[in-house]
Amino acid sequence: MADCFFHTGRPAVTRCKQCGKPLCSSCRKITEEGIFCSDECAKTAKIYAERMKQMEQQKASYRASRWTGIAKLIKIIVVLGILFAIYKYVVARFIR
Ligand SMILES: [Zn+2]
Ligand SMILES: [Zn+2]
Repeated sequence: MADCFFHTGRPAVTRCKQCGKPLCSSCRKITEEGIFCSDECAKTAKIYAERMKQMEQQKASYRASRWTGIAKLIKIIVVLGILFAIYKYVVARFIR
């Protein structure tokens, strides 16, 4: 691996999760979100992760609403089909 971004000559042990800078063991900042080179990178990653989560939730709810829409449509088609079958039955039976 390359040298630490902040200390030339010191071997990097990891990379910043956000910007990818090589970091030595004394430069890495370990947080809940991962390993970063600075507080800014940790903050950016956190904001980014939260935004991604929000987007995922939005997508999931959109998908769910679309599925309920399709389910409603299927129900309407089924009801119409039943009504049509009854209608045909009535026509065949009583109207000749
Ligand atoms: Zn960084
Ligand atoms: Zn370093």
